[in-house]
Formats: sequence, structure tokens, C-alpha cells
Amino acid sequence: MKNAKHGALRLALYLHCVGIDPMPVGQSYRQQFAALLALYESLDIATRKNARRLGRQAMRNAGSLEKAAHGLIAETAHPPFIDRKRIAVIIEQMPRKEMFKRIRNGWSRRTPPCVSCRMSNGFPKRSWPSREMAEDVRLRQHDRDTLRVYSCPAMPGFWHLGHLPITQRSEVAISSAPSSSLPDSQ
Ligand SMILES: [Zn+2]
Repeated sequence: MKNAKHGALRLALYLHCVGIDPMPVGQSYRQQFAALLALYESLDIATRKNARRLGRQAMRNAGSLEKAAHGLIAETAHPPFIDRKRIAVIIEQMPRKEMFKRIRNGWSRRTPPCVSCRMSNGFPKRSWPSREMAEDVRLRQHDRDTLRVYSCPAMPGFWHLGHLPITQRSEVAISSAPSSSLPDSQ
């Protein structure tokens, strides 16, 4: 067997030649090959022999295995090592409380979640106990030029990071914007 796809095609063709069209399920050629092999091995010896003979004949007639077995197995790419769709679904299904707990795990007790201000995803904003500390953090962000530091309107003495409204982003983005233009994240 050259590889799983080749093996799956060959088995699918053999089975097709004796009237069995299983269209195996499976995410990968390897899985399809395993399913087809189990099916093939469940046949009696005479039927297998007949299937191989007819299969070889079909290959000769078609010119290649690929042509003879075209459409008999599901075309598939190797599944990605990281299944991003699956991860997105898991995150989607994770209760929001649990999700915020995970976010908050990375926050120290000096930087509590705000009782009032929210990030764009709806979770409480992180609060910094001084403007300098917030500014330090801002400078370490990849999108620091669109961020500003502002004092929390709800918790005196605490500071947040927030994105500037898009219309203001061309201007210099340093700290002292009034807290009335509400930030959309961080
Ligand atoms: Zn706040």
C-alpha cells in the first residue's frame, strides 16, 4: 500500500466491482481505508478473489486506479492538527461565567474587574489602580496607538484601557481623552 488514499481507492474499487458501494465515512483516508478493509475482510474468499480480478480489469479499462475508482471514496484533506472550528464550537458552548473565570485567572488582585465598565465582548473591564500602571500596560499592547488610558467613571481611583473611536485614530493617541467617549474594549 503506497498510502491510505491509494489503499482506500483500491478497496473501494474491489468492493464496487462486486456490487458493494459503501462510501465510507471518516475524516481521513486512513479512517476510510480501515473501514473499507474491515468490510472487505468480512467477504468470503471466493468473493474477494472475484473482486480483485474485476477490480484489476476495471483499472486496465479506465487506465488508472484513480480513474476507475473516481467518486468511490470521500475526497478529504488530512484533518488539520488544530481543529479551529471545533475549538470555536467548544468556546461558544462554554458558559460565559466559566469563560470569564479563565480570563480573570490571569489578573492580579490589584487589578479587579470593573463593576460597571464592559469590554466589547460584554465582560467586565480590567481596572488598574494607577494611571502610570495602566499607561505601562498600554505601551506593551500591539495596538497601543489606538488605545488610551482613562479614569473609570464608576470606581474612583481606577483606570481602564480603551480603544479610541475609529474617527479619532489618526490623531495622536495619548491618554487624556475624556471618559465620556466610551471605549469599546480592553
Ligand atoms: Zn470602570
